[in-house]
Amino acid sequence: MEKTKIEKRFQGKVAIVTASTQGIGFGIAERLGLEGASVVVSSRKQKNVDEAVEKLREKGIEVLGLACHVSNAQHRKNLIDKAVEKYGKIDVIVSNAAANPSVDSILETQESVLDKLWEINVKASILLLKDAAPHLTKGSSVVFISSIAGYHPQVGMAMYGVTKTALLGLTKALAAEMAPNTRVNCVAPGFVPTHFADFITKDKATRNRIEEQTLLNRLGTTNDMAAATAFLASDDASYITGETLVVAGGMPSRL
Ligand code: NAP
Repeated sequence: MEKTKIEKRFQGKVAIVTASTQGIGFGIAERLGLEGASVVVSSRKQKNVDEAVEKLREKGIEVLGLACHVSNAQHRKNLIDKAVEKYGKIDVIVSNAAANPSVDSILETQESVLDKLWEINVKASILLLKDAAPHLTKGSSVVFISSIAGYHPQVGMAMYGVTKTALLGLTKALAAEMAPNTRVNCVAPGFVPTHFADFITKDKATRNRIEEQTLLNRLGTTNDMAAATAFLASDDASYITGETLVVAGGMPSRL
C-alpha cells in the first residue's frame, strides 16, 4: 500500500479489529494504522499475533497485539481491558471474526455446527460490544464484516450465509440502540482470495466462474475491503449509520 496516497483520518484514535492477524482483518488493521490509529490486533494463535504485530510495527504503526478467540468470554474481556488500559478509550471496533466449518446443506448441518456458526459469527460480536460499550467515545464507530453470502446464501455456504444475513439486521438494530454516540455499519465483501476462501478461490474453474459473476471481472482484494471499512469507520461517513456497503465488484446483491 502506498503511504503517499493515504490520509490520516484516524490520528489520535484507537481501533480494535478482531481476527486481524491475516487476510481482511489484517488489511483493515494496517489501513487504520497507516491512517494514524493505534490499533489492537488479535486472533486465536499467539504466534500469528506476534507476527502481525511485527509487520505492523515495521510500517511505523502503533499496535497492541493480544490472543483472543472471539467466542471465549475471558479473552474478549481481556482484549477490551488491555486496550483501555493502554490507550484509555475505544473509537473504532471492527468485528471481523467468522467461521465456516461445514459445506453441508442447512438441514444436514449438525446442531453443534449450527451453534458454532451462531456463536462465532453473530453472538461473539454482540458480546464483544457489550464489553466495549462503556469505553466507546462520542463519535465512535462499529463496523461488522458480513458477506455477499448474506444476500445470496449459496449452496455449500448456506448456513454461514444466514449468519451473515443476521449481521445486516444486527447493524440496523444496533445503529438505533447505540445512536447518537456510536455509528454502526457493515461491509459485505465479495470473494477475496484469503486462506478463508481457499476452498473456493484456489480452484481455477470456480475462480473464473466467480470473476464472471462480478461486473469488474476480478476477485476483491484485502485493500478493497480495508478502504471501504476505513471509510465507514471514519468521519467521512459521519452521517451514515445502520447501512451495509457491498464491496463485491458488482456481484448481484440488492437494489
Ligand atoms: P482469513 O484470511 O482466513 O483470516 C482469518 C483470521 O481470523 C486469521 O487472522 C485467524 O487467525 C483469525 N481467526 C479465525 N477464527 C478466529 C476466532 N474464532 N477468533 C479470533 N480470530 C479468529 O479470513 P478472511 O477471508 O480475511 O475473513 C475475514 C472475514 O471476512 C470473515 O468474517 C469472513 O466471513 C469475511 N468474508 C470473507 C470473504 C472472502 O472471500 N475471503 C468473503 C466475504 C466475507 P488465527 O488462526 O490465529 O485465529
